[in-house]
Amino acid sequence: ADRALYTAKLTGRDRCVLDDLDNVDLTRDLARALAAGEVRAWLQPIVSPQDGSVSGWEALARWEHPTRGPVPPNRFIPLAESTGLIHELGSAILADACRAANQIRLAWRREFLLTVNVSGRQLTAPGYAEGLFEILRETGFPADLLVVEVTESLLDGTSLEALRALEALRRRGVCVAIDDFGTGYSAFSRLDVLPADYLKLDQEFIAGITTSPRRAAMLQALLQLAHALGIAVIAEGVETREQGDMLAGFGCPLVQGYHFGRPVDPADVLDQGPKASDA
Ligand code: C2E
Ligand code: CA
Ligand code: CA
Ligand code: CA
Repeated sequence: ADRALYTAKLTGRDRCVLDDLDNVDLTRDLARALAAGEVRAWLQPIVSPQDGSVSGWEALARWEHPTRGPVPPNRFIPLAESTGLIHELGSAILADACRAANQIRLAWRREFLLTVNVSGRQLTAPGYAEGLFEILRETGFPADLLVVEVTESLLDGTSLEALRALEALRRRGVCVAIDDFGTGYSAFSRLDVLPADYLKLDQEFIAGITTSPRRAAMLQALLQLAHALGIAVIAEGVETREQGDMLAGFGCPLVQGYHFGRPVDPADVLDQGPKASDA
């Protein structure tokens, strides 16, 4: 609290210096936390909007800091990217998520997709694909149930390494999802050449579908286009029943959002067991 008061009195440049110092602290802590297994994969269900049954899980990184409490991914992921810790973090999350998803498969006697977020810096690092398959071997999670989520900007054609890395994964059965589609300038015109099996429609795109008829028309057209191209759509950030009903009515195959389920500790998924629709 003292520090907050003190920070409030500082002006621009000084405050930047304080932020830098805090980033140095947090980076050192993140390295320690990774070594200690403090950064974990939580899972958010990806469900069918028709009946709410679970088809997969998205792995989302969670860091419960011993003194700071939970640190949000939007804080520590960019830090991990800028310091190079993202490689270690990515491996830790992938391994943790594969182990958890395997336990759920066994307990529920059902198959699921597992999606993991991969940043550009990870994907283009030498040996990325080998490291990923090594983790799949170690954990026993099947390659053809794994989906890597990448953002569209990575695939703008300028990074040949990124495209090559994705093709190496796809050749061996791993699927690719384009994350955050519908934000910024999304390239509808390049959907036919993107190495994509799934398209994740961003929350920003979904937010207006029940209030704006024009937005709803875009959604419907996009679903038809993706279907014609053999790309499965996952609508993200679905927060209301009305949105879920509209997506089901339009034939959207998969949805994700607080209305259907929040990210949870995998231990709680195992404790609670499947819902009736998943049994
Ligand atoms: P993202 O990949 O777009 O993940 C979706 C975010 O939306 C998650 O935030 C999730 O908790 C949140 N969310 C899900 N449903 C709803 C909803 O109905 N309403 C609202 N308002 N939010 C919803 P989270 O977990 O804080 O993660 C933020 C971002 O951090 C992710 O965005 C992703 O870009 C990044 N991230 C998280 N885990 C990892 C990771 O393991 N590796 C990498 N490279 N990035 C990660
Ligand atoms: Ca994602
Ligand atoms: Ca997303
Ligand atoms: Ca996002």
